[in-house]
Amino acid sequence: MTQQHAPTFTLGDVEITRVVDWQGPFAPAAGLLPGIPHEEWGRNADWLAPEHWDPAGDLAVMALQAWVLRSEGRTIIVDTGMGAEHERPSTPGFDRWQSELLPALGRIGIRPDDVDIVINTHLHVDHVSGNTVLRDGEWVPAFPRAQYLVPELDDAHFGPRNESGAGLQADDRLIYDDSIRPVHDAGLSTPWNGSYRVDENLTLESAPGHTPGSSVLRLASGQDRAVFAGDVIHSPLQVLHPHCSSTACLDHQQAALTRSAILERAAAERELLIPAHFAGAGAVEVRRVDGELRLGRWATGD
Ligand SMILES: [Zn+2]
Repeated sequence: MTQQHAPTFTLGDVEITRVVDWQGPFAPAAGLLPGIPHEEWGRNADWLAPEHWDPAGDLAVMALQAWVLRSEGRTIIVDTGMGAEHERPSTPGFDRWQSELLPALGRIGIRPDDVDIVINTHLHVDHVSGNTVLRDGEWVPAFPRAQYLVPELDDAHFGPRNESGAGLQADDRLIYDDSIRPVHDAGLSTPWNGSYRVDENLTLESAPGHTPGSSVLRLASGQDRAVFAGDVIHSPLQVLHPHCSSTACLDHQQAALTRSAILERAAAERELLIPAHFAGAGAVEVRRVDGELRLGRWATGD
């Protein structure tokens, strides 16, 4: 197989590859982040546009992407994206999406059998749909040898234990049934809560608010630190406004507390911030300057 180049960087002993499925102008800025004063987008246009904000359409620019890690000889995927062929009737833009994740993995020499661990930072549609593929009319795990790490509190919220369906949105049952249940049925899932040590370099930690089981993956290897922040933060402008949650967050107040704590720690511990949906370079340093949180340097892949 011909291997192609993908943006890769190394932190400590962990190699990190970014697999972008799609990026572009995604949602009205004020609709996504109503708590941020609208003039803030224009005031920060010098670094927001065009990679994170489309001034012409006043749209937040976002990415759908997976982070692929090599750590201690194992291959780990952080969030599996939109998958392929999944019916998503209430979000027409996502209905029967054709994800590039599997072909893109193939191009960098990773076959589905090579993946050891799949991490779902939370159980929203754009983080779990690539967990499964359609085979002979049935949804089966896309990575048949992998251990899938599933946040227990999200499993309780989105799965059958939530009998009343309280807090569920239109496609949530469907998403669970085609992207989470088959992983459980195949015996590949490991539910976890609180914290979960993946290996010597990587630890999952609960980071609730966006969803009940929302989580982050911390990397500590040698002198290097990073936090794969999932949907704790959606736009880099939120680094300047950590208390403003997105409309996709289920508990805005808890999400704001969590976001502030994650960003403060990223600044204090010099953790590279690697969220699920940042466009541009995808990962950025966070700094405390004159008592305020600020963005540092963006990551550069080789
Ligand atoms: Zn998301």
